[in-house]
Amino acid sequence: MISPTELEVYFLRKVAEYNREEGERRRNELHLTDLISECKRRVWFDKNDPLPDDPESLLRMWQGSMLHQMPLLPEHELELEFLGVKTRIDEYDPELGILIEKKFVTFIPKTPDELRKYYSHYIKQVQYEALFLMANNMKVNKAFLLFVVRGEPEPGRKPIAVFEVPLLDGNLVMTQFIEEVETYKITLQSPTPPDIPKIYSPFEYPCTYCKYRSRCFGRW
Ligand code: SF4
Repeated sequence: MISPTELEVYFLRKVAEYNREEGERRRNELHLTDLISECKRRVWFDKNDPLPDDPESLLRMWQGSMLHQMPLLPEHELELEFLGVKTRIDEYDPELGILIEKKFVTFIPKTPDELRKYYSHYIKQVQYEALFLMANNMKVNKAFLLFVVRGEPEPGRKPIAVFEVPLLDGNLVMTQFIEEVETYKITLQSPTPPDIPKIYSPFEYPCTYCKYRSRCFGRW
């Protein structure tokens, strides 16, 4: 008979198997989520010297993929590539030209100011996704970020929030994108990882949830 502990281990092993195939494929590819990551050092480790995921990371990724499964628009998880970078658009309506990026987070922004303060990388992701769509001859008229809380919302915050993301001049976004891709490729080909950003600490986001925290900061 299986024990509770054995069942926990079995479940985690199944989750690890579920995530593994995607993880191995992504390791050899450059993805838009790499480009918008808050930490280039983490992306360097993921591509060049990855650590196995701890149970918390495994479950977080698994919950994220489960929460993404319900389609909202005609094109769901649309895979696109542009200039060697891959992405998967969560939701897209080709008739209306609507793009939606879904995020499952513990902190839901209340205002556009909070959105810009805490999630500027997600805004950039949506603007780049619009670029990917237009570069693949698909129109974009409106783009949205849809936040859904994981667990209980903080007091005074809603469990769900949607923000429209302004679409910027396509040429400007294209120039920024090309520069970032070139910089990223050079960074990832370096034999050593980029330095730890000076403002990062082991007790603050994004390091608090990072599996490379002890590698970066040792014992604390
Ligand atoms: S612990 Fe912090 S500095 Fe180190 S890889 Fe992770 S996010 Fe980057």
